[in-house]
Amino acid sequence: MMILGSERVVTNDFSSHKTAEDYSGNHLSEIKITGSAKVVRVVNHYLPHEDSLNYDSFVKNQYQWKDGDYYNCISITGKSIRYHKDELGGNCVVLSGYVDGVHYYYGLYHMAKVNVNVGDIVNQDTILGYQGNTGLVASRKALSDVTYGTHVHMELIDDSNNYLNPRDYALGNKRIEWVSQGNERNENMDQIHILADKINIRESFSKTSKDLGDVYKDETYDILEVKDNEGYTWYKIKTSTNITGYVANLVNENWIEVLKKKEQEQEEKEDEQEESNLDSKYILLYKAEKTDIYYIRLKENEELYLKK
Ligand SMILES: [Zn+2]
Repeated sequence: MMILGSERVVTNDFSSHKTAEDYSGNHLSEIKITGSAKVVRVVNHYLPHEDSLNYDSFVKNQYQWKDGDYYNCISITGKSIRYHKDELGGNCVVLSGYVDGVHYYYGLYHMAKVNVNVGDIVNQDTILGYQGNTGLVASRKALSDVTYGTHVHMELIDDSNNYLNPRDYALGNKRIEWVSQGNERNENMDQIHILADKINIRESFSKTSKDLGDVYKDETYDILEVKDNEGYTWYKIKTSTNITGYVANLVNENWIEVLKKKEQEQEEKEDEQEESNLDSKYILLYKAEKTDIYYIRLKENEELYLKK
């Protein structure tokens, strides 16, 4: 059976796994999707086999291994390896896309190696990565076998955090499609350009207000309103998928850049031009270094010119 672009079988179905399905084929076989999607999360720093964790020894040792948000683990080959608590699925790709206007995420875990980056738009021709055994896996194979526990763990999640059966998407019977939710670049409007990988869209200009979704790196949005609140600058936007809300830039952070409308840029250029024209029309007589009594009272930094 072709599952996720390669010959695979279902090894743990949704009714027993509950939040996902597991598919297994050849170790290092290609992983592809049907349809299209945007890459919103990548983990790609664990080594297959030598960083693999045995599920049972993890369950047995997890309290001893726990160190804040991390686990200081012993891998199946005896290597000391530190895992973040959110990375027990090993190397992974999380994708974002739509089915009939409804937004979904799907995640593919335990990869040997990931081939894509956050922000990439991927489709059926993209090799997302290769089947592997990074993270928590279980197997009856010998621990020395480099293919120990190799499989793809696939999750399909909706915006309300419900886990759905991913089988039809794995088989290619159904597909998610990427719909760009950003606005087109419009030089007649002030717009924001997203520089961070991902920023929440909030219902109001407060970080405790309702989470309506996310904007992603490289997207552009028209600015409908600007508010300063809680140390953030909030930009009101409307996505092409009809979400209206606020995205925040923490003051002094570069999560968002403002793209000014063209006339504004032109005016600024004209101002600069005017300044350089001063030299040809006027002669500088005296620059007051401080506020003092002169023949003419000048304030600090005021300049006195004589017209040619
Ligand atoms: Zn699984």
